Amino acid sequence: MVNKIYMMNFKSVSDSALLEKTKTLVQEERKLTTSVLWHLHEIQKRRLYAEQGFQSLFDYCVRGLNYSEAAAGRRIAAMRLLVDVPEAEPLLEAGAISLSTLSTIQGFVQRKDAPTSKAEKMELVAALQGKSRRECEQHLVALGPEAARPADRERVISPTETEIRFVADDALMEKLKRIRELDAHVNSDPSYLDLFHRLADLALKKLDPEKRIERKSTPPAESPQIPEAPSTNPRYVPAAVKGLVWKRDQGCCTYRTPEGRRCSSRFALEIDHIKPLAHGGLSTPENLRLLCRAHNRQQALAKLGPEVMRPYLV
Ligand SMILES: [Zn+2]
Repeated sequence: MVNKIYMMNFKSVSDSALLEKTKTLVQEERKLTTSVLWHLHEIQKRRLYAEQGFQSLFDYCVRGLNYSEAAAGRRIAAMRLLVDVPEAEPLLEAGAISLSTLSTIQGFVQRKDAPTSKAEKMELVAALQGKSRRECEQHLVALGPEAARPADRERVISPTETEIRFVADDALMEKLKRIRELDAHVNSDPSYLDLFHRLADLALKKLDPEKRIERKSTPPAESPQIPEAPSTNPRYVPAAVKGLVWKRDQGCCTYRTPEGRRCSSRFALEIDHIKPLAHGGLSTPENLRLLCRAHNRQQALAKLGPEVMRPYLV
């Protein structure tokens, strides 16, 4: 419908007016983009994404605002640079530097081992003005080849397959070689796909509480389970209780927004005391639940207040 209206209008629009109007629209678009970045910053500061049921600002941008993952990542990185170097704002608005360049600079700065001063960041912004993506990458490689390497890439290539590209360092190649050697009796010539399946299975057996519960529920007859010694630490949650909570909450964050939308993140889950220990809460399954890190912090802030939580907030 919108397209049709424009098409009708365009018939009476002269070439010069069309060009002029497009230029104005792009200027407005840049102003809007800059304004979106500052809004994202304020949402981050207030941690509103968590209140809305998202596990991070990135998650909010993708699922809440419908940005693609790449677009969300670029905006958040550019926003972080803008916070450190507000002098870049007029350049972004004027189109002298692009959102993508600001995000590339931020990525470079984050990957560097040594911290980058504000003056150095400003220098980078000044040096990369008006440069193409390729020119930016060349400039950054010269400054720090390690930090300039492109970020890992994930690309969906079919409904059931994703291509992952990343740079392996020598240490990882050595480890992979050693794993191939040790594992040769299982598969003498594994592809990288075989190898990563094998590694993922081994890691999940160790890390995934659901898999640990499965193993514990069928102990071999000759090795009876040794009951855990009771702990006097009130923070201590026995493994059996953790397992119960994990299973009951289906291995994902239980936070719900006032409208009832569940977060369901499976990332960095923590066990939360619904009634805090500080308020006399107990480590019983009824008083425990799984929360992702963002929601555990948000709930702790709400229950204990910013004064108590300040040392724990980065
Ligand atoms: Zn959550």
